[in-house]
Amino acid sequence: MKIGIIGAGFTGLSAAFNLQKEGHSVTIFEKDSKPGGLAIGYKETSWDWTLEEHYHHWFTNDKSVLTLAKELSHPVIIKRPKTSSYVDGGIYQLDSPMSLLHFPKLTIIERFRTGISIGLLRYNPFWKILENFTAEPYLKKSMGERSYKKIWEPLMTNKLGRYTKIVSLAWFWARVYKRTPKLAYPEGGFLNFARHLEETIVKNGGTFHYNSNVSKLTSDNKVELIINSKSKITNQKFDKVIVTIPTFAFTKISPQLPKTYVKKYSSLIGIGAMNLVLRLKAPFLTDGTYWLNMCDTKSPILAIVEHTNFMNKKNYNNEHLLYIGNYMETSDPRFSMTDDQLLKLYDPWLKKINPNYQSSVISHQSFHAPFAQPIIPKNYSSKLPPLKTPLKNVYLANIQQVYPWDRGTNYAVELGEKVSKLI
Ligand SMILES: Cc1cc2nc3c(=O)[nH]c(=O)nc-3n(C[C@H](O)[C@H](O)[C@H](O)COP(=O)(O)OP(=O)(O)OC[C@H]3O[C@@H](n4cnc5c(N)ncnc54)[C@H](O)[C@@H]3O)c2cc1C
Repeated sequence: MKIGIIGAGFTGLSAAFNLQKEGHSVTIFEKDSKPGGLAIGYKETSWDWTLEEHYHHWFTNDKSVLTLAKELSHPVIIKRPKTSSYVDGGIYQLDSPMSLLHFPKLTIIERFRTGISIGLLRYNPFWKILENFTAEPYLKKSMGERSYKKIWEPLMTNKLGRYTKIVSLAWFWARVYKRTPKLAYPEGGFLNFARHLEETIVKNGGTFHYNSNVSKLTSDNKVELIINSKSKITNQKFDKVIVTIPTFAFTKISPQLPKTYVKKYSSLIGIGAMNLVLRLKAPFLTDGTYWLNMCDTKSPILAIVEHTNFMNKKNYNNEHLLYIGNYMETSDPRFSMTDDQLLKLYDPWLKKINPNYQSSVISHQSFHAPFAQPIIPKNYSSKLPPLKTPLKNVYLANIQQVYPWDRGTNYAVELGEKVSKLI
């Protein structure tokens, strides 16, 4: 069969790779100039490796993507980087039961309660029942108000904003359940890994069209796509099409979708992400922390991630690479700020952590993803769109369908496998 795929993120790449194994011909349309989707990367000329626009790593139990890396013989680096939290003006390692036991900002009873509360989720495989509850009341009740306020409230509100109160406990469970102390990373970066997959697909006869925005999809016996590419409009017909873009975007390009479908699924919410990447001459988190959660509701920053405290700086011309990360709605004023305005806003907070960092800044650049984090409310399993759409021979496989897991390249790869099997 001749199959068209909209999107060269990891769902699209994985679907293409798997469909080819069954002898199908695949054509991928991507509006960007390279593969990777939300995990897209870039490379400064002086670097050997690519870097993600938004921080990325794998957990060591991310089976689907690690199996894919093995199949491609793509080397994967596994390390145990340090995760810490910024609380009341200090930095505390907080990434294991032992470090929680030593966390001085809570009483010993609060530490035990917090540990038990998280442990109850981590070792509970029955997520389905949890989707009947929202996360916030459970966390407050189980670990206690003070502990919630010190650690989780700033993280939840800085990440989810006005959606904090509606997010399901099943979503929170997935984040705790899947976390592993050791993390993995593809050699050369995620863009390098995506390119490896792309090269394999091309070698097997697949075709990629970059800078190609699919603006319309209609389905009769064949599925027709209208493609806008470099101010040229063309059309192509396929036996089947897989759409990997967010659901609201699918409903926008597909005028034949029934109104009931559009009403039910286009209202699913997602928020954006933004990272300001600093290239530095010296380390920023000098205690070796890779991931720093900013546990302060006043902080304009959610997390500070020093990539080169995870991967070796020699791959980046000995530069120290720092993400200043945030999730937010696209209407948030920060989302439209210039790089200089952002650095100015973050500067007082960065100085609290490293007073002299400014003298070592080589450059700063921001990256934006308007739809980066689906908001998962209660009982999401009854709300998520099915893979088969009402349009004949059209399948939807996107970031909003990997439930109960939180989005991730591992689940994108798994979803690509699933939709190709269905086809
Ligand atoms: C800040 C941040 C941190 C993250 N951290 C991690 C992490 O540490 N580990 C991890 O595994 N995952 C992480 N993720 C999640 C991960 O990147 C995504 O879950 C995954 O990449 C989703 O893949 P996808 O193919 O389903 O969707 P996408 O990556 O969104 O791919 C969809 C593709 O479709 C293209 N497209 C959209 N509309 C059109 C159109 N009309 N025509 C043609 N092309 C179109 C887009 O350009 C995009 O390339 C993170 C994401 C963000 C934003």
